[in-house]
Order: sequence, then C-alpha cells, then structure tokens
Amino acid sequence: MKILVINAGSSSLKYQLIDMDEKKVLAKGLCERIGIEGSRLNHTPAGCDKVVIESPMPSHADAIKLVIDALVDKNHGVIGSMAEIGAVGHRVVHGGESFSGSVIIDEEVKKALRDCIELAPLHNPANIIGIEACEKVMPGVKQVGVFDTAFHQTMPEEAYLYGIPYKYYEKYKIRRYGFHGTSHNYVSGKAAEMLGKDIKDLKIVTCHLGNGSSVTAVKNGKVIDTTMGLTPLAGILMGTRSGDIDPAIVTFLMEKENLDIEGINKVLNKESGVFGVSGVSSDFRDLSSAAEEGNKRANAALKMFSYGIKKYIGSYAAAMGGVDAIVFTAGVGENDSQTRADIINGLEFLGIKIDSEKNKLRGKAIDVSASDATVKTLVIPTDEEMMIALETELLVK
Ligand code: AMP
Repeated sequence: MKILVINAGSSSLKYQLIDMDEKKVLAKGLCERIGIEGSRLNHTPAGCDKVVIESPMPSHADAIKLVIDALVDKNHGVIGSMAEIGAVGHRVVHGGESFSGSVIIDEEVKKALRDCIELAPLHNPANIIGIEACEKVMPGVKQVGVFDTAFHQTMPEEAYLYGIPYKYYEKYKIRRYGFHGTSHNYVSGKAAEMLGKDIKDLKIVTCHLGNGSSVTAVKNGKVIDTTMGLTPLAGILMGTRSGDIDPAIVTFLMEKENLDIEGINKVLNKESGVFGVSGVSSDFRDLSSAAEEGNKRANAALKMFSYGIKKYIGSYAAAMGGVDAIVFTAGVGENDSQTRADIINGLEFLGIKIDSEKNKLRGKAIDVSASDATVKTLVIPTDEEMMIALETELLVK
C-alpha cells in the first residue's frame, strides 16, 4: 500500500508518498505560499533532483491537486495514477482530550477537531483545511488523523493538571497536553527495538531537541509526563520560545512595555529562547560558532539549554523510579554532539555516561553510551512521517 502523508500549515503543505511494503519514501515535497502570490511546489522524487513547479495555488485544494499531478507526472512522477494512493495520513497538532490515538476521519472527528481550534488556533484550522482539501480532490480515499497530543494522553492527573482553579480545567480544558507525540512515540519504540527489549519493561526519557524542543518520560510504553503544556510554548528553552518562566513575568512585561496580548505572545514565541538570550541566532550551529569566538550571551544560551534538559532528565528519572535509556532526536539532538555531551555530563551518579568517540558519529541510530554506563544513551533520527504512515496503514487495514 502507498500512503500519502500530509502536514498542512496555514500557507504551506508538506507531503511524502511512502510505499509501506518497502518502507520507502517515493517522493516528498513542499507547497509554499498557498493563497499568496508567488506560490510554488518543490517536488523531490526519491534519488532525483528537486523539481520546482511555479503555479498559482489559491487554496489548499489547488495545492493538493498540484501534488497529485506531480506524483503522476510522466517525467518526475513516481506512480501511474492517483488510484495507487491507498490512504492519506494527516498530521494534526491538537487532539485535545478527544483523541488518545489516531483515527479514521469522518464528520464526527472533524467536529471534534473544530472544537479543538481554541486550543491550537495557529495549527488546527490549517490541518482541517488540509483534510477537507484531500476529501475534495481524492473522494473515497480513507483519511487518518495522527495527533501530536495523542501519545501524551496517558499522563496521570498529577502530571497534567495545573495549580489553578479546577473550574478552568472544566470550563476551558486548561491542562498539560504535550506535543511532538508522534516523534516521542517513534523514538521510544525504536529505542526498545535497539535494546532488544519489550517497551513495557523500559523507563525511557526521550529528548526531542530541534527548533521546538520537548522532553518526555515514557514508562512501560506510556507517557507519564512531558515538558510542553497547554501549548508548545512551555517546558525547556527553545529556538525562539521561552519555555517555562515565572507566570508573573507575563503581566509585568505587558505593563512595563505596554504590550497587548499579540505583543506578549510575539515576545514569548518569536523573540525569546536561545535567540532572545544570545541576540545571535536560534540556530545551534551559529550559537556554537559565536560562543567559540567568545560571545558570552551565546555561551549563556547554550548553557541554559543544556542545564534545563539535564534537570528534566533527573526529575523524570525520579518520576519513573529510575531510567533505562535516554534518547536524543531531532535537529539538535541528532547532530549536536557538544550539546549532548553538555547535557549528559554530570549525570554519572545516575549511571548515565557517554563515550566521547561514539558521540561524534551522526546521521544514524546509534548507542553512544560508555561501556561502564548502566543507563543507555541513544541517538535516534526521528521520522514523524513514517510514524504517521504506519499509524494510517494500521487503521485502514
Ligand atoms: P528541527 O526543528 O528538528 O528541524 O531542528 C532544527 C535545528 O537543528 C536547527 O535550528 C539547528 O539549530 C539544529 N541543527 C541542525 N543541524 C545541526 C548541526 N549539525 N549541529 C548543530 N545543530 C544543528
């Protein structure tokens, strides 16, 4: 079966066509500037050069039509006809409390997704538009929703409730949801495979460290806690997001800087994090170069990032009553060996220790633990698209 994986944003749409029998990506691409002048499709068939198709895309349905045309094109296409697409898997950011797993999309599911818009106003509307665009262009093809929040729905209430009046949980569903669930799910499963153990017998801390970052405690295959909260702004310091701060800073800054809601949201989401602290960049490669050249704020930002993650590893080890493996994934987690070393350094008392030579390798799943470590440290490239495709296949079969 061939599955089309769609990740729709408000003006963009990423896709991958995956052959599930071979577990192989046949083509992938990105539609940019949907609904804006100058829209184009970047389409890359596996093993070939990128093809850029400039064409108007007034709506997401037009973008999907172009994607299908590119997939069946006689020059750069990878399938004979649209009929070869067995199902579509959609990344959906917020499933609220309605979804603890992936689902086949029907009218009831779409209603529940609309009910979650309040919780993810930037993401869910685009995800729904992506689903409806596929329904229009590919009538009759099964569509599956895979949620960033679903894997985290196993958290107990002591982990997901906030210390604010309970009525706000009841009234507005304010609670910790957690994000990057598809990635945490994928890498924790891979970690169990690498260790040759049943995930039900493992306590794993997964560190998804990219532009957005989150750390999750996966005990016996189930999430018991995670750093992101009601929104993906919470938790550890990120590229441009603040992560956890004293909540009183919000009203203090609003008053002092005369900021409205949009203004403070911009400060915390776009102007904070390692970018805001360093004043250099949100990219860890730029930060490392600046720190090496003696930039003190870049150095402070990097130290804050590693320190925050180290603290969560310790606290999640305590929350799970021990830890068997630490997993690093995503852009920073997979590539930045120095940051991995900075995080792990000092955790020897928990049996966590890495081999500095193995830690230099990158680009593949690898065990970087020292030979005398009692806890494994693994680097595992994440693959959210493959996970979405696997979930989709499971449901439609
Ligand atoms: P992601 O959000 O998972 O795509 O991760 C993106 C981030 O990964 C970038 O902003 C970089 O900071 C980081 N990154 C990517 N490659 C490297 C690298 N070779 N060394 C350090 N950081 C990297």
